[in-house]
Amino acid sequence: MSDCLFCNIVARTIPTPLVYEDDLVVAFDDINPQAPIHTLVIPKAHVASMAELHNSDAELPGRLMLVGSKIAKLKEIADSGYRVVVNTGSHGGQSVFHLHLHVLGGRHLAWPPG
Ligand code: AMP
Ligand code: ZN
Repeated sequence: MSDCLFCNIVARTIPTPLVYEDDLVVAFDDINPQAPIHTLVIPKAHVASMAELHNSDAELPGRLMLVGSKIAKLKEIADSGYRVVVNTGSHGGQSVFHLHLHVLGGRHLAWPPG
């Protein structure tokens, strides 16, 4: 998907420092952080949103969560706590249509979200 921002980050056509990379997933810090720690975890393959996950993607959500957990340890917010968010579609506030987990922490996060 050459017109997808996050596919271009995966392809390195938009150079972005990676926090983590494996065969299925990459993670990088959000360009507009909403908390002291704000890292995005994305699949290398293009999936537009959580609404576009299919049975054949069954391995992927687990991997994204596991990497989110690793990032929290790497960024030293695992003990203080953090939030994982997957904005989906228009009401969910999704702005980049390539599936991603937000890992947010480093401060107290209010609930409920806006
Ligand atoms: P969402 O609104 O849930 O789709 O989240 C998209 C996120 O991508 C936002 O938090 C943006 O700040 C972030 N973002 C957009 N462009 C970049 C970029 N080039 N590098 C890192 N994060 C980005
Ligand atoms: Zn994409």
